[in-house]
Amino acid sequence: MKIILASNNAHKAREIEQMLPSDIQIETLREVGYDKPIIEDADTFEGNALIKARAIYKEFQRPCMADDSGLEVDCLNGAPGVYSARYSGENATSESNNEKLLNAISGQSNLSARFRTVIAYIDAAGNEHIFEGKVEGNITTTPRGTEGFGYDPLFCPIEHPDKTFAEISLAQKNEISHRARAFRAMTDWLSRQ
Ligand code: IMP
Repeated sequence: MKIILASNNAHKAREIEQMLPSDIQIETLREVGYDKPIIEDADTFEGNALIKARAIYKEFQRPCMADDSGLEVDCLNGAPGVYSARYSGENATSESNNEKLLNAISGQSNLSARFRTVIAYIDAAGNEHIFEGKVEGNITTTPRGTEGFGYDPLFCPIEHPDKTFAEISLAQKNEISHRARAFRAMTDWLSRQ
């Protein structure tokens, strides 16, 4: 079976393919020739993942999937949430986002947070399925580490409370990450079908 991934990132497609049962191939939007813009304007991860998956399904009526992720900080009422990528503005970088987050949490005592991923999968018949993964942790007030991307230097997972995501290896991150957990949930479900 082939599943269209609502992304142009071939690297992400190959990574996902490795996590799924071996008879499933992932095709990127470029590979299927889809180049229309998709406006992700929902206020939940699930909403945005569904917007992307539904747009692709409407075009091709074939199995497709989309994922949406972000960081939720409890003392900020769940921000940056769905705005994680562009928290500090349209031209946001990881550095400017991390700087904005550090300013926002300054003086707060509860620094609990989580990364969350939601996957929307639409099967050939048009049925929608949602899978979710999260990793709980705490924000540290001093960025540490050089691995990973995004908010990794500021996030200490409860599984490694003294380390940030940017201080553990990719293999260690993949054991516990929100994204890996969401894809495992989808893989488990697909292999039971
Ligand atoms: P996406 O939906 O996977 O593109 O994630 C949206 C944004 O959330 C990213 O641009 C990052 O800012 C943040 N994010 C998602 N996953 C991670 C992660 O594993 N580490 C650090 N930041 C992440």
